[in-house]
Amino acid sequence: KVRVRFAPSPTGSLHIGGAHTALFNWLLARRTGGAFVLRIEDTDLERSTKEYEQSILDGMRWMGLDWDEGPDKGGDYGPYRQSERMHLYKKYTQQLLDEGKAYEQDGAVFFKVLPGKHIHFHDEVYGDIDVESENASVNQDGTIKDIVIMKRDGMPTYNYAVVIDDYTMGINMVIRGEDHVINTPKQLLIYDALGFERPGFAHLPMILGKDKKKLSKRQGATSVFEYNDLGYLPDGVFNFLALLGWSPRSGEEIFSRAEAVELFDIKNVTRKPAVLDIDKLNHINQEQMKRMAPEKLLEVIRPFWIQMGLPVDKFGDGYLAASLKTMGGRGQTTIQVAEYSDYFLDFAKVQERYDGGDIKEELRPKLKKIYGELLAAWGDGTPEHLHEQAQTIFAANESSMKESATPMRWALTGRKVSPGVFEVASQLGKEETKKRLEFYGL
Ligand code: GLU
Repeated sequence: KVRVRFAPSPTGSLHIGGAHTALFNWLLARRTGGAFVLRIEDTDLERSTKEYEQSILDGMRWMGLDWDEGPDKGGDYGPYRQSERMHLYKKYTQQLLDEGKAYEQDGAVFFKVLPGKHIHFHDEVYGDIDVESENASVNQDGTIKDIVIMKRDGMPTYNYAVVIDDYTMGINMVIRGEDHVINTPKQLLIYDALGFERPGFAHLPMILGKDKKKLSKRQGATSVFEYNDLGYLPDGVFNFLALLGWSPRSGEEIFSRAEAVELFDIKNVTRKPAVLDIDKLNHINQEQMKRMAPEKLLEVIRPFWIQMGLPVDKFGDGYLAASLKTMGGRGQTTIQVAEYSDYFLDFAKVQERYDGGDIKEELRPKLKKIYGELLAAWGDGTPEHLHEQAQTIFAANESSMKESATPMRWALTGRKVSPGVFEVASQLGKEETKKRLEFYGL
């Protein structure tokens, strides 16, 4: 049974890089019916906080990455915080000391790196990697550097604790960022010295900014929650991150969590650095919103409408969901959808944007007559019916679609671009449409 883990240090929130690593571990666990373990690597006592730990857990929940074992859940291999596993680090340090494979100096414990050992491992992504032990851990002058395993403050170092924990937690596949490739040979020396069976390894490609440079703070250090505030859905961020360094063999770009699990194969992860392209995220996010049922989309958009001060409570869910349906997939982010659809909730927004000053006086009587006839022919008010009636009425009055529909669009939405004007009118209803046209003297 596959056992993978995500092992964040609680020294910051869950950022894009961490979420990416967590996601691939989750995918493999769910694909294979294995276990996804969450381990908190809090040995840096000064920089680790409970708040960050909580925010990482919350970030993972937001992304929909549920774990099977972890500090909040327990499990057969706990505890799941390194700070609570000191007895294990001490036990194995003693073993290494007893066997003469480690030594103490100045209160710290060093693992002896012996020359002449060939270290080989197969990485699922990077292929075969071969390193000589004398090159695995070196000082600046090129001489062999023994590996600190226990620091003077009594805490284990990353390269040591990670070995003890991955082994004692039964982790058999280590999936993490490519920045850890250089650590792997050091860790393997420790695995071998302790007689531990090695796990498999898969290092994920580096994530670059659109400028092809390493992710800047602005691009990558953004906590996943900020993506929520910026208007992205968990499903959108999930889908987007899954495509960084991986794509399904079928070439699909838009998929749900469940579909991603179905499609996932670690063999298709590439080592080519992945570029974080916000335009692509926008596109994926839009496609994910299009896939949502209007009632579900409503739950996502509602808080943004409220934030914009729109009178959401004046309307029933049926009307609100239908308004979103009328939007027909316009808007790439939840924020845009909320903004673009504001006129369904509040005519005041239309008035703020549009004063009707561009309507030619000599055209007003004609438009008034046309709209009067259209309102009289309202019937069942479906977009199709209104469209049909409009065509007849416009033609009978020797007016074009452009001449008659454009001022109507402005009066109803206060925007140059919107869904079809008859769809908007249909959704607003006869009374509201009449009211808005009359307000502009039409
Ligand atoms: N705590 C380490 C990190 O945040 C874990 C690395 C690993 O997965 O081995 O980078």
